[in-house]
Amino acid sequence: MNRILIIEDNKTLAKLIAKKIYAALNFEVDLAYSFSEAKLFLKRYTYFVTLLDLNLPDAPNGEVVDYALEKNNHVIVLSGNIDKNFRKSMLKKNIIDYVNKSGVNDINYIIQSLKRLKKNQAHTVLVVDDSMVLRKQLKGMLENLFYQVITVAHGEEALGMLATRSDISLVITDYNMPVIDGLELTREIRKTYNKNELSIIALSSNEDDEITAMFLKSGANDYIKKPFSKEEFSCRINNTIEALENIHIITNHSNRDFLTGLYNKRYFYEDMNNYFLEATQNGESFAIAMINIDNFKKINDKYGHDSGDKVIVNLSEILRSNTNQNDIVARFRGDEFYIVLKNISNENAMNVFERLRKEIAKSITISEKGEEIHFTISIGVCINHEDTLDDSMNHADMMLFKAKQNGRNLVAFE
Ligand code: GH3
Ligand code: MG
Repeated sequence: MNRILIIEDNKTLAKLIAKKIYAALNFEVDLAYSFSEAKLFLKRYTYFVTLLDLNLPDAPNGEVVDYALEKNNHVIVLSGNIDKNFRKSMLKKNIIDYVNKSGVNDINYIIQSLKRLKKNQAHTVLVVDDSMVLRKQLKGMLENLFYQVITVAHGEEALGMLATRSDISLVITDYNMPVIDGLELTREIRKTYNKNELSIIALSSNEDDEITAMFLKSGANDYIKKPFSKEEFSCRINNTIEALENIHIITNHSNRDFLTGLYNKRYFYEDMNNYFLEATQNGESFAIAMINIDNFKKINDKYGHDSGDKVIVNLSEILRSNTNQNDIVARFRGDEFYIVLKNISNENAMNVFERLRKEIAKSITISEKGEEIHFTISIGVCINHEDTLDDSMNHADMMLFKAKQNGRNLVAFE
């Protein structure tokens, strides 16, 4: 599906855009230099997006746009025509964008737009509006930008939807609605989700500027006044989603180990300081284990540091795939890992660690030179918890020491 069609009679420009798109996005790109050629391509393939020149030798007045839209294509118009009214009339059609093609900046803009559209597919937007007409219109516009869209008619329904679905990135809410208005809905949502987790954009035809401020003070990320232009709508929605993504990237960087993608020490303590207290108070059974690669220094010496890194990555993948989503698997430093298995009986926890030890012992890592590397790990477990997290971790550390002393490739606990 990641295929783009460029319909543009200026061959040099078409080839330049195609080359840049391929380099930046690795999309397949087809080039058509006339309307008749374009028709053949459109019949044959389904495109992610079509980029259409309005002025073709056999279709001088943008006929290609209607044709592509009729065939349910996502359309970005490329134009040299800067006439305001013409541009307006084009934007009334169900196109994604109208882009001038006067320079390198415009090509870069197209590429950024395509990247954005591709990422939008991963985001679900919840539209809350009591008007069916507007719900339908917003859904159409958002789907044209490749978002997944859910629509509901009022605030209560929206709260219900948020409670059952964890994949919603953005809520677009109207102001005037029966029972719970948009402001109240925003306040209610913010009790559970902060701005870094879920974005809110408010819509209103209300002329009162105070409402805008009240929305923002209540936790909305942005505000769009009706009536709005398609371009303003797209830009605001995309900007808000992009900001949310950037926060996720930064949070991820600060919580994760660069080499393995596992959680780092910082995140481990952030999560565990709360969890340890909660679980010990509630009598929830859990296990903390310290894991260390046996004779890792020898692996580095024999196969080289880069192959040693591959062993660490391989180990990380096995640890991750043998634990649950809620468990914590963290790399602290070097060949030192911690695992917390949450809400698990002691017996089951020991089975998991024993299984891990065996999985690792039979795993094979291929070195930089293609040799098979075999390695083992030692695991020290704390299941009978001490009074503090640090003491329990020290206990796991002591058990690890015992496993190493008793010959390595062992799980030790007491
Ligand atoms: P033991 O069984 O007692 O744990 O022996 P060991 O050789 O694994 O222990 P030691 O602590 O002496 O060695 C750990 C080695 O890990 C030393 C260090 O060079 C290596 N190391 C630390 N961080 C990294 C890393 O990120 N990549 C690689 N390849 N090696 C690392
Ligand atoms: Mg070691």
